[in-house]
Amino acid sequence: MIIRKTIQCALVLETVKKLMCHPTADEVYNEIAKENPNISRTTVYRNLQRLCESGEIQKIEVPDAADRFDHTQSKHYHAKCLKCGKVSDVDMDYIPNVNEKIKNANGFKITGYEMIFKGVCPECQNTQPAK
Ligand SMILES: [Zn+2]
Ligand SMILES: [Zn+2]
Repeated sequence: MIIRKTIQCALVLETVKKLMCHPTADEVYNEIAKENPNISRTTVYRNLQRLCESGEIQKIEVPDAADRFDHTQSKHYHAKCLKCGKVSDVDMDYIPNVNEKIKNANGFKITGYEMIFKGVCPECQNTQPAK
């Protein structure tokens, strides 16, 4: 049983790496289900969660959209395409301890933050010329 879990977990990790571009949980599941129709959605979701907790992948919380998963372990920023919803990495120095720069949190106990840039990806710029 432990072995089976490990195999499923490895499969999920491998698939996140293979899909590269920040897949959603559904995209990971659909990819795995192509070759492993017996695996359940719940199993995939649970393993994604486990991999996030162990730090092997990162969860990116995208406003107004499904969470995405990133096989890159280092902290970095993302940009979301407003047309197709694709999430890509942006190359920018990571700002450590942004939380500590808050001068007045109005009583909030800050537990984290998400910073996502938005714009139009290269593919969408080509299909629909910018105004
Ligand atoms: Zn796009
Ligand atoms: Zn990324």
